[in-house]
Amino acid sequence: FLSLSLQAKMSRPVQARRLEGTDKNIWVEFVKLAATYSKVNLGQGFPDFPPPDFLKESFVRALSGENYMLHQYTRAFGHPPLVKILAQFFGKLLGRDLDPMTNVMVTVGAYQALFCCFQALVDEGDEVIIIEPFFDCYEPMVKMAGGTPVFVPLRLKAPKDGKLMSSADWQLDPAELASKFSERTKAIVLNSPNNPLGKVFSREELELIADLCVKHDVLCISDEVYEWLVYDGKEHIRIASLRGMWDHTVTIGSAGKTFSATGWKVGWTVGPNRLLQHLRTVHQNSVYHCATIAQEAVAQGFQRELELYGKPDSYFVQLPKELQQKRDWLVQSLDAVGMKPIIPEGTYFLVADISKFKSDVPDVPDSDEPYDSRFAKWMVKNKGLAAIPLSAFYSGAHKNNYNHFIRFCFAKEEATLKAANDILQKWKREKTSP
Ligand code: PMP
Repeated sequence: FLSLSLQAKMSRPVQARRLEGTDKNIWVEFVKLAATYSKVNLGQGFPDFPPPDFLKESFVRALSGENYMLHQYTRAFGHPPLVKILAQFFGKLLGRDLDPMTNVMVTVGAYQALFCCFQALVDEGDEVIIIEPFFDCYEPMVKMAGGTPVFVPLRLKAPKDGKLMSSADWQLDPAELASKFSERTKAIVLNSPNNPLGKVFSREELELIADLCVKHDVLCISDEVYEWLVYDGKEHIRIASLRGMWDHTVTIGSAGKTFSATGWKVGWTVGPNRLLQHLRTVHQNSVYHCATIAQEAVAQGFQRELELYGKPDSYFVQLPKELQQKRDWLVQSLDAVGMKPIIPEGTYFLVADISKFKSDVPDVPDSDEPYDSRFAKWMVKNKGLAAIPLSAFYSGAHKNNYNHFIRFCFAKEEATLKAANDILQKWKREKTSP
């Protein structure tokens, strides 16, 4: 009798159905590989240089200052000084008055902001449009909420003869995008500047998306974590600022990306109360609250940036200037060895074409694993250089659409980029010599 009931218990599945098909995670896999094998890690997206001094100093002041209440709980939906300054800052950017208590919510990084959006706004059977290639967590998060992801690709237009490709060469087909909207569509996820390509969506492209959202009463989850990282004088346009879009949009940001402090895990959402009130429900019933001291320090960082807005001393002006130089460096060093870079207009990522290096890592016919993934693994194990395969940013069915690109992160010290260059140069010499 006892063993029967034990057997019944053993055969009952322990895993909740909502986790089905979401157990693999590219970051878990590639972070481990990089930790084991890499000499130079241009894989996961984080700077290897420190955050700005003013931010570190704010953190230290918050930690050891007189206000010991900063070691205790604060308001669930965001530490008051932080939501106040975010409302002021984004109010200015969006050209509208924002209420810190209802139009802003602080989250544990942009990751939790995304999670709150999908849990709060997507129901069983809802469709969510995702533009490929995409930051990988959108797909499992939609699925966990019971929704169905519907993918629409950025299509690569051939660049002009002899010119390097640009992330702007990847474009939406307007008719194809429109065909994905239906009565079942609840939301579209937009990520501009886009990880992994570095594409900065143009006003025309954003208006196309906005018009479809308004026409079909579809929500827009706008992941803008790289909002300050745009190059060559390009402009980052917030889709929430386009006509009719405020009421349809949740805008997501990240102090990790904004202030080069990814480990602090401070993120936020900005949007109309009609949407944010439901995000607050998810937040209060799950995470409830984010680290007070990190929120306090980020609030002070934004205070400084508000005062210096648009001025040369602003970190939001300086960081992209420095990163553009790093981008140009990596573009040059990849181009010199024949690993053709796609010049990114934004973000701190760069996708490169590995076609000329394929002879070093022969294809395995009928392998389940996309070629670029095997290439990236081979590269970190044999050359000590870590990067992320582009297929990681495609849905299961489309992982083989492009199999000859890998993504590098260039938010790295000069010495790191130089070490990457040395590896690539040596590799090229070994390839060409008999
Ligand atoms: N969205 C995008 C597009 C990202 O690239 C990342 C981080 N790589 C996130 C969200 C998550 O940001 P956070 O570290 O603030 O959780």
